[in-house]
Amino acid sequence: MKQTFSIALAAVVASMLISGHTGYANPNQKNANSNAGNAKPIQTQSSEGEIDSLTSRQQLYDRLSTVTGIPWYRIAAVDQYERTLSKARPKARPQLGSIVGIYIDEEQWAGPLNPDSSDNVPASIQWFNGIGRDGDGDGFADRNNDLDLLYSVANRLLQYGGSTEDDFSIGVWEYYHNSRAVQRIQQFSNIYATFGRLDLYEHAFPVPVGTNYSYRSTWGNARGWGGRRTHEGTDIFANHGIPVRSTCYGVVEIKGWNPYGGWRIGIRDLNNYYHYYAHLSGFDKTIGIGTIVKPGQTIGWVGSSGYGKPGTQGKFPPHLHYGVYRDRGLIEWAFDPYPLLRRWEQDERNRLKAANR
Ligand SMILES: [Zn+2]
Repeated sequence: MKQTFSIALAAVVASMLISGHTGYANPNQKNANSNAGNAKPIQTQSSEGEIDSLTSRQQLYDRLSTVTGIPWYRIAAVDQYERTLSKARPKARPQLGSIVGIYIDEEQWAGPLNPDSSDNVPASIQWFNGIGRDGDGDGFADRNNDLDLLYSVANRLLQYGGSTEDDFSIGVWEYYHNSRAVQRIQQFSNIYATFGRLDLYEHAFPVPVGTNYSYRSTWGNARGWGGRRTHEGTDIFANHGIPVRSTCYGVVEIKGWNPYGGWRIGIRDLNNYYHYYAHLSGFDKTIGIGTIVKPGQTIGWVGSSGYGKPGTQGKFPPHLHYGVYRDRGLIEWAFDPYPLLRRWEQDERNRLKAANR
């Protein structure tokens, strides 16, 4: 019976991963969930201090990988997914360790029926079926210890099989019971595996700096087509055919036609932000769902597609509509990308200047 269930589950998880199914509607139909201006973007640039912590994190993942047999990039993906949830809901998920992002509440850690909710004795935690384990070998399952936190989650994931990708996805599903968690962790894992490192926070401006374009802050303006929707993004006006580039390291989550956005692409990054590029005239032929991209990589071209059935174009001047959405675990919230765009544009100007010196 258990065997049959596992196989059925594996099929479900595998099909979700193959189809890139997201379980939510396209961003243009998410207005009910948006809270204009309320959701502030988190700092997305990596500072020097963060790079130090990335080095320490890499060491932790490598160490845990040796112990558990799980590749470091899958451990890193779980940790990063947890970190993005905590950044989105810091009150509900306070930081437990010093550099890992894993959050496990007391009851889960000690076991739901454990009379001592702050239990740190591995044998009794195990008796009450708690998640907490001793990862660093000091004899205690300490909920504030980085290695104990990471090892406890890894240990739970490994209960559902070995360390192969399918087994791992089943473990992730059993742990979260949330198909988006499975998809995110798969996406993050693929990004880390592709680049072989954790420091993937550089950004690029979505059209080449130096070409003719213009944009201004239009957050929350009413818009002309599709009923009462407010504008969730920034319009960058540029000539038809100007390259549209990924702003981040990420993975292509959606590509195709949408009645509002026309030919559009959605890219997920490691902050669990969803970058949305609409009204394109076409897609770069190397881009498909699941493609891993880096900042500055061409994904398509500026156009005026949208506001009708597939192929409709020319109903408005050519421009790139760029939006950013933040995953909060169950719903996504749009926030104003304008300040980010200004910063990325300036950073790119500085890089160009430095290169021409
Ligand atoms: Zn727009």
